[in-house]
Amino acid sequence: MALELNGKVLAGCVEAELEERVRGVVDKLGFKPVLATILVVDNPASVTYVKMKAKACERIGLESRIVKLDENTTTDELLAQIKSLNDEKRVCGILLQHPVPKQIDERACFDAIRPDKDVDGVNSLSFGKMAMGEPAYVSATPYGIIRILKHYGIELAGKHAVVVGRSAILGKPVAMLLLNENCTVTICHSKTKNLPEVLRSADIVVGCVGKPNFIQADWLKEGVVLVDAGYNKGNVGDIDLENCISKSSAYTPVPGGVGPMTINSLLLQTVESAEKLADKK
Ligand code: NAP
Repeated sequence: MALELNGKVLAGCVEAELEERVRGVVDKLGFKPVLATILVVDNPASVTYVKMKAKACERIGLESRIVKLDENTTTDELLAQIKSLNDEKRVCGILLQHPVPKQIDERACFDAIRPDKDVDGVNSLSFGKMAMGEPAYVSATPYGIIRILKHYGIELAGKHAVVVGRSAILGKPVAMLLLNENCTVTICHSKTKNLPEVLRSADIVVGCVGKPNFIQADWLKEGVVLVDAGYNKGNVGDIDLENCISKSSAYTPVPGGVGPMTINSLLLQTVESAEKLADKK
């Protein structure tokens, strides 16, 4: 029977440890460290994610601040907001909720976040360092994926990992992290030819396509490890889990797999940032 890689349970255990660490930081600093989330687009999905992150902060004793900006905000206005948060001592983490409206240069804004406050790992410098195997904050979903695989003892070295999707926040960084763990990595995208054939040689499949139930059971080999990062309407992932689980040796459920680990990685990196600030005191 396939092993369920349960992100909800793991995240819950880590939260208990983080709560303890936050208490220590608050004692040293004399104030609650802040995770600031900037929300420009008021779409229901973003609002839900932001609320979930705020609740998670509160559970472990961090202060969550939501900065809501008008949908007509310009790049310069957003950059000014980021600069002000960069300069504010109590703010240990800055998160710019993706996506932003079209008129905004999202990359310029991500790159304006101070790397030592970039707890969501979106900055180009953070990505470059991570790819080099240097210490850096890592994009939260990819970091959550690696942490869950390691926690459950999934062997990575020498395995063929196929990542379906190449976005800057998910596909590319998760591929780099798997490479750092000595996987042989193939990255697939919308122009990939013969995707099912590529997937049939995979020991590990990471689905980050953004298409419900996209990856099919007959594209997989027996014993594959399935990581479903997809989160589509109706709590459906990017892998047709209902039909694929029986072929797998381990899988992340949707919901309760990668999602909770994403928020947990954000919390973990915010606590690390707060601890660095407290150590300077
Ligand atoms: P994205 O920016 O839309 O990227 C999707 C990727 O899939 C692109 O690289 C695209 O290729 C590729 N793709 C699209 N159609 C394809 C096809 N037919 N065959 C092969 N590849 C194809 O999405 P994202 O932001 O990375 O998110 C991906 C999924 O993860 C979504 O379901 C999202 O909701 C979920 N997600 C979950 C979490 C979480 O916390 N659980 C966090 C973030 C995202 P091209 O580059 O060629 O266009």
